[in-house]
Amino acid sequence: MRRKFRNYKIIRTCTKEYKDYHSYIKYLREDFKHRCAYCNLLDTQITTPYEVDHFIPEDIFKDKWQELKTDYANLVYSCKKCNGAKGNQYEGDITKRELKNDLFYDPVLTDYGMVFYRGDDGGIYSDDEKGRDMITRLKLYRPIHNIAWICEITRTTLDKLSKQIDEVGKDSMKGKLLCDAKEELQEYYDNCIAVFMANYNNNKFSL
Ligand SMILES: [Zn+2]
Repeated sequence: MRRKFRNYKIIRTCTKEYKDYHSYIKYLREDFKHRCAYCNLLDTQITTPYEVDHFIPEDIFKDKWQELKTDYANLVYSCKKCNGAKGNQYEGDITKRELKNDLFYDPVLTDYGMVFYRGDDGGIYSDDEKGRDMITRLKLYRPIHNIAWICEITRTTLDKLSKQIDEVGKDSMKGKLLCDAKEELQEYYDNCIAVFMANYNNNKFSL
């Protein structure tokens, strides 16, 4: 079964101007809904801080279009793995001064929910040629992305169970059963998150 990769729109709302592009991180975090623009990982699911990616990389615009360093339209909220994988990859003609990078769909202008989907295994897939190329370039095929997805749906299920327990009361018969189920699932979730974190943060053993 195919599941939606992303079901919200990213809208840039920041109108402030800063000299240091890192100052935009708080606006990016809100505008990108606390998720990596590329792999959709929630920033609350990992302790590794998120980074500011330049959609047109700095090595490309340096000395040619320096304003892009702090132009909010060129800044993307990205997890460390995706920012690292993207690196300096670029295709286009920088002298034309077009804010685009032909190797990647712009995560704000393009609805990634229409380009990518989640497979049964939680992996990220695409039927689109450029989408598939992006999966290779950003290494979205790595199993850490499957594990991240499994963690997220498990977290969502835990939250649902908590709500149901609140509704029926934890001392009721049904409440007790739900508490047992939640406790079991919580243990599974904790293990899953531990595996995810260890693999996300360990570059030598990078799943
Ligand atoms: Zn990412």
